[in-house]
Amino acid sequence: MTSIPFRSRLLRTCAGLLAVALLSGCASLPPVVADAPAPAPSMPTPASPPPPSSTPTPSEASPSPTAPSPTATPSAPSEARPLAGRVIVIDPGHNRNTNGRFIRHKVPAGNGKTKPCNSTGTATNANYAEHAYNWAQANALAAELRGRGATVRLTRSDDRGNGPCVNTRASLANELAADLLLSIHADGSYRKGARGFHVIVSTSMAGGDRIEQESRRLAGALRAALPKEAGVPRSTYIGKGTAMSPRSDIATLNFAKVPAVMMEMGNMRNAKDAALLRSSAWRARAATAMADAISAYLG
Ligand code: ZN
Repeated sequence: MTSIPFRSRLLRTCAGLLAVALLSGCASLPPVVADAPAPAPSMPTPASPPPPSSTPTPSEASPSPTAPSPTATPSAPSEARPLAGRVIVIDPGHNRNTNGRFIRHKVPAGNGKTKPCNSTGTATNANYAEHAYNWAQANALAAELRGRGATVRLTRSDDRGNGPCVNTRASLANELAADLLLSIHADGSYRKGARGFHVIVSTSMAGGDRIEQESRRLAGALRAALPKEAGVPRSTYIGKGTAMSPRSDIATLNFAKVPAVMMEMGNMRNAKDAALLRSSAWRARAATAMADAISAYLG
């Protein structure tokens, strides 16, 4: 017992020394401590503003675009999760595409033709870039679909890089045997008064006649939902009032073996359409409209 007080004193002494050591250790750490927060000011990305006309949304900030839905389960469809078990691939058209040589190199386009890997897309007159809109809209749609239980994948994982090329935009959907591929774009027509959305379908799909027919059915569902639910009119300049544009030169669609359509959500060069496309509230409405169309299509 007599040794206990001594030990106790010793422990207290050691504790005191330890405290000093820790303090001095911390005190000796300034370079480390100073280093730790250093990356923050040296990392401009979080503070870096989006393009001036862009309205960031939470989905733009942290899209986790390629991760499968954390809420997706293999459980049977239910009222609350009507798209459970469905796999949907969304293609946010273009990308920032700063590597001109890369995006200009020729790739197969289908039909034995070739075309450039990609392009930089269009923009509003206030320079809100199409790739940024496509990215924001794709993520809004992905969130809506995941909320309904679908597994959703995107064809690109960020809005900063280059590509993928148009000849591989359908690859992920094909590999996953997805229920459908939806490519999101916006148009850039300078024609006076040209506004409204249209849907492009391919007349030359790798999936053949049945997939082309299914794609037209999907396009019909989207065409019905968008004006009604998102208030965007049918194109005044493409499709002669049908808002449908059958084409054979769209590689993204031509290589698809699953139902696939390309949305031109509006004309970025039109002031009314540009105001919609720039609005995160409108993008949410458009996402709901498209998700409703997809739900109707998938039955
Ligand atoms: Zn485009």
